[in-house]
Amino acid sequence: MLSTMQDGNLSIGTLLRHGARVHAGSTVRTWTGDGARTATFAEIGAEAARLANALRGLGVTGDQRVATFMWNNAEHQTAYLAVPAMGAVLHTLNLRLFPDQLTYIANHAEDKVVIVDATVAPLLAKVLPTFTTVEHVIVANGPAEAIAAPDGVQVHAWADLLAGQSAEFDWPDVDEREAAAMCYTSGTTGNPKGVVYSHRSIWLHSMQVCMSDGLGLSPADTSLVIVPQFHAMSWGMPYAAFMCGASLIMPDRFLQPEPLLAMIEALRPTHSAAVPTIWQGVLAALEAQPRDISSLREVVVGGSACPPSMMHTFAEKHGVHIIHAWGMTETSPLGSVCRPPAGLSDSETWAYRYTQGRMPAGVRGRLVGDDGAEVPWDGESVGELEVRGPWITGSYYRLEEEGEDSDGAAKFDDGWLRTGDVGTLTPDGFLTLTDRSKDIIKSGGEWISSVELENHVMAHPAVAEAAVIGVPDAKWDERPLVTVVLRDGATAEPAELREFLADKVAKWQVPENWAFIPEVPKTSVGKFDKKVLRAQHAEGRLD
Ligand code: ADP
Repeated sequence: MLSTMQDGNLSIGTLLRHGARVHAGSTVRTWTGDGARTATFAEIGAEAARLANALRGLGVTGDQRVATFMWNNAEHQTAYLAVPAMGAVLHTLNLRLFPDQLTYIANHAEDKVVIVDATVAPLLAKVLPTFTTVEHVIVANGPAEAIAAPDGVQVHAWADLLAGQSAEFDWPDVDEREAAAMCYTSGTTGNPKGVVYSHRSIWLHSMQVCMSDGLGLSPADTSLVIVPQFHAMSWGMPYAAFMCGASLIMPDRFLQPEPLLAMIEALRPTHSAAVPTIWQGVLAALEAQPRDISSLREVVVGGSACPPSMMHTFAEKHGVHIIHAWGMTETSPLGSVCRPPAGLSDSETWAYRYTQGRMPAGVRGRLVGDDGAEVPWDGESVGELEVRGPWITGSYYRLEEEGEDSDGAAKFDDGWLRTGDVGTLTPDGFLTLTDRSKDIIKSGGEWISSVELENHVMAHPAVAEAAVIGVPDAKWDERPLVTVVLRDGATAEPAELREFLADKVAKWQVPENWAFIPEVPKTSVGKFDKKVLRAQHAEGRLD
């Protein structure tokens, strides 16, 4: 029997119309270095219509790709809404990628237009001549002269292009299963892989961002969106805000700890989200100069395991509640969020808070062992996490038709996405990730969790950052090597750090290899780059 319910497309156009009208007074504030410029959701809605009209004028039709090469700011938010709502596909380019990766990605996606922030136009200028399908470049927050046009490419200034356009656009009723946006994973081996989000997947994911077992974003919130809009869609904040009316603070290019703290003090966000390395930097800066960050109600940390010591420091020194979450570009990205059960003691609650949390109703998960069989949810059995659901990708863009499905097949298991993450699940569904499968250390036939070692070492007061890799060992196959960044002015010897670990991990796991380094190399999205560390070790640079 069919229901009596009406149907309607869950589209970005509906989010845009809703946010601009019902939450007309909510704001997007973009940091300018010493203050912020403000646009209301109503103004963003009108600007989105102007942008859509301008893009149509440039010949953008159907599902053509409009790329962005931008920081988080009001113009990027405008493109986030306008491009999918007009039926085209938003493609966020990661401006920290290597030039050859950018070339591959832009050509693979067949971008027709690139919108670029004037401040990063010189970066785009280096690769633009290699982009074979781009016909137009739109420079936001600067003049068209910010970038020289290669043959066949027209450059426009955003302000000039939008000046005469109507603030109304007849937003089409886009089928919810159509592509809305795309994002390439950084790809640890081979070329980056494209994940294409649908209108429907973004809509459902936005609801999860607002859910109380999700990120709990509400109309009462102001979220400081530190996660770049080119990294897994800023973890869904830009769209969820238009759904629920939360205001946004966009840091633009000011992503260092000092300006972030200045923003927090001046604009008083209630909510924020970023990878752990950002928050480590913020904590170090807070130690050097105390600031008022008490406006923050909740801070979401994900993208890498959140060290428990960091959660405690935030809670005990600064009164800030950290929520641990797990996800991937492939999972939109919300995969799990840690909301401990009620009615527990403090120490029991903390034990839950260290975990990556529970998967919401929209995400099904299972752990699969080396033999391909599912392992039990007993809090101890270890397996690779596989997930499926309406905001989890089922394939990579055009990989199959290009005959690269061997790679694709390795990433999918009978309709489940293989995450490459390894861990345990408790009977009540709490996920603890011990490693990425490629980072696990196998020592004398036993597994050592690099994440567990890192978390323990980072709890030492002299340590600012610690990243652990496996290095070849004649006797044990592999042993852990701990790379350590000390806090400013602090000292520590390997013997002291080994002693510190003695009552925390099994004796045979205590590492004998230590390297003190000035900084842990980071990936384009700010995570520890173990690939680089392994290469440095192979070159004898970590001895
Ligand atoms: P990249 O592969 O470039 O890092 P993603 O942001 O898509 O891009 O990374 C997803 C991966 O990040 C996950 O597969 C997992 O290994 C890691 N990750 C994300 N959140 C967490 C977390 N809370 N704890 C541990 N690892 C995490």
